[in-house]
Amino acid sequence: MKQKFSKTEAEEKITEFFSDIKRKTPEDVKKIKKLAMSKNIKLGDKRKLFCKKCLSPHGNSSIKINDGFITINCGNCSYKNRWKLKKEIDFGLHSHDDGCC
Ligand SMILES: [Zn+2]
Repeated sequence: MKQKFSKTEAEEKITEFFSDIKRKTPEDVKKIKKLAMSKNIKLGDKRKLFCKKCLSPHGNSSIKINDGFITINCGNCSYKNRWKLKKEIDFGLHSHDDGCC
């Protein structure tokens, strides 16, 4: 069964996906990356929410910030994901706004 999304629908799906990234599996990440690619949607900062190498969401990974760089040590494969730190970075990893339930 093939389902076709419009670009807007795909974007919504991706946003929804990343709002609950911690509960996703690398397999899910792979799928959403494929969807984004097929629709020419850039993931941008959302790519920083999962490991570059094993695609595991950064749930219990350790995050270090120094010298304008951010390093996330993957909790799954120990790969060091490193980016230049930008002011407007959005990790979506808020620990204080679990307002629901
Ligand atoms: Zn990893």
